[in-house]
Formats: sequence, C-alpha cells, structure tokens
Amino acid sequence: AHFCSALIFSLFTEESLFFFYVRLIRRLAGKIAVITGGASGIGKATAAEFVRNGARVVIADIQDDLGRAVAAELGSDNACCYTRCDVTDEAQVADAVDLAVARHGKLDVMFNNAGITGSPGWPPLGAVDLADFDRVMAVNARGVLAGLKHAARVMVPRRRGSIICTASATGLCGGMGAIAYSASKATVIGLVRAVAAEMASSGVRVNAISPYAIPTPLALATVASWHPERGLSAEEIKRMVEIDLNVMYGTKLEEEDIARAALYLASDDAKYVNGHNLVVDGGTTVSRSAKN
Ligand code: NAD
Repeated sequence: AHFCSALIFSLFTEESLFFFYVRLIRRLAGKIAVITGGASGIGKATAAEFVRNGARVVIADIQDDLGRAVAAELGSDNACCYTRCDVTDEAQVADAVDLAVARHGKLDVMFNNAGITGSPGWPPLGAVDLADFDRVMAVNARGVLAGLKHAARVMVPRRRGSIICTASATGLCGGMGAIAYSASKATVIGLVRAVAAEMASSGVRVNAISPYAIPTPLALATVASWHPERGLSAEEIKRMVEIDLNVMYGTKLEEEDIARAALYLASDDAKYVNGHNLVVDGGTTVSRSAKN
C-alpha cells in the first residue's frame, strides 16, 4: 500500500514523468501567471495562450468590465480571473501578486505588460510635455519595476519563476515612437538586464519582449493621432499599423505572435534564457538601423 501511494504521489509531483508528458502538449500545465494589461491586445492574447497551455491566469488591469469579460471568456473563475490593478500604484501590484499566491499557492509567471503611449501625436522635443513624460514613465517603467519587485518577492524563496516584460522596438531605434514612449521602453530593456543579472543565481529568469506595430487599441489610437487633419478611416489606420509600419510584407504581426513568444519565455523550454530581449518585429529594427 505504501509503495502504491508513493507511486501515485510521485506521478503528480511537478517533476514527475506524468507532468513531463502533459507539458509536451500543455506547456504551462500547473503554472500560475499574472498578466498586467491583460484585458486587451497583447495581454489578452497571452492570457488566452497561457490558459490554452494549462496555466491559471490572473488578469490585472484597470478596465474592469473588459477584464471581467475576458476572464469569463477564457475559462472558469479558477482558470482565469480578473483583478483591478493600476500598475502605477505599487500596493495594487503587490496585491495582484498576493492574490495569485492566495488563490493558487504560488506564482510561476509574471507578465509585466501594461503600457500607454502618452499624449497624442508625436510632439517634437520643443513641444514635449514633461508631465506626459512622467505619466508614461509611471506606467511603462515604474509599473514594470513594481512588477519585477513583487514577483521576485514571492518567486525567489521558491527559487523558480519567469518574469517577462513588454518593451518595444521603439526602445531600440530612434524615430519609431514618441520621445517619452521610446525612453520608457529603453528603460524596460535596461531594467530587465539589471534585474536578470542580480537574480541569475536565484532561479528566477527575467526577459523582455520587443514587439513592433500590431493593431491593438493602443497602436490604432496612436497612429490615428499622427494625422488628425487627414481624417483617416479605421481601415486606413489599421492598414498603416499592420502593413506600412512593418517591413515584412505579405505577413502581418499579430498579438498571437507575441503571445507565443511569451509562452516560450514562460515555459521551461527557455530555462537557460535570462536577461534577453526577444525582438518580434519581422526584422523591422535591423532594417531601420541599417538605413540609419
Ligand atoms: P492595449 O491598449 O490593447 O493594451 C494595453 C492594456 O494595458 C490595456 O488593457 C490597458 O487598460 C492596460 N493599462 C494601461 N494602463 C494601465 C495601468 N496603469 N495599470 C494597469 N493596466 C493598464 O495595447 P497593447 O498593444 O496590447 O499593449 C500591451 C503592451 O505592448 C504595452 O506595454 C505596449 O507599449 C506594448 N507594445 C505594443 C505594440 C503595438 O504595436 N501594439 C508594439 C510594441 C509594444
């Protein structure tokens, strides 16, 4: 009887052969994730990809109705739930992390993804509004730092976990985004490198993903603000984001492409990938830098 119960028990431990096979199909089986900005765009697509791969997900966002609807669409309350979390408030980020631990006992994956682009249009340096810079940095950079800090707080004692932060191609090249936005995304890449170095021996990995243009509400609103006088139709704006901004013609960059990159970084397939910035832009940044 002891042997049988030991055998059954060993089948269900996280390192068991049983879970090894389950993970071949569902690569995040048994994992717990928090996704900031998970109510829309890249965060929503990633929540769907994570749930499909066996993870339980806490969506943390400031769009309550949308967040609740997305969580309900993605699964039962146990598979996916929503919590209000403004990433500019460190206490709310701490609460979102603690909620995941209270509900599910641990946190395996933190996706610091919430972001904003700042004031409409891309004002030149002379017209830059410093208050806008502070707002953008508060969400995109300080919000990510809060996510790193509180995810590490619960991951380091378990000596495992993957933290992923959404940066942007605009953080790598000039001329791709507004000044504050570009600076905030370069900061995300810097934060990831600095924190990954500090945590390298702790068992927690920290990586960035840098997408380029995808027609999410954030990108569509930004592009619409460039040429208000032209009164571009929704279709024309979508085309600009999907096709004109990217160099890889004939194929479009989609939220799901970023979700799959996040899945890789979240999974044990990336167990030795740390401090990396995974650029998912079809080669746009290298093409632009070659021209610069
Ligand atoms: P999106 O607008 O669809 O999603 C952004 C989400 O972040 C929204 O649900 C929003 O409510 C949430 N959010 C905003 N401020 C928040 C705050 N203070 N606290 C919590 N949540 C907040 O846009 P998206 O394109 O999916 O953006 C996701 C990330 O991807 C952002 O960091 C963005 O900068 C980055 N990104 C997007 C593109 C693109 O072209 N779409 C390219 C590169 C990087």
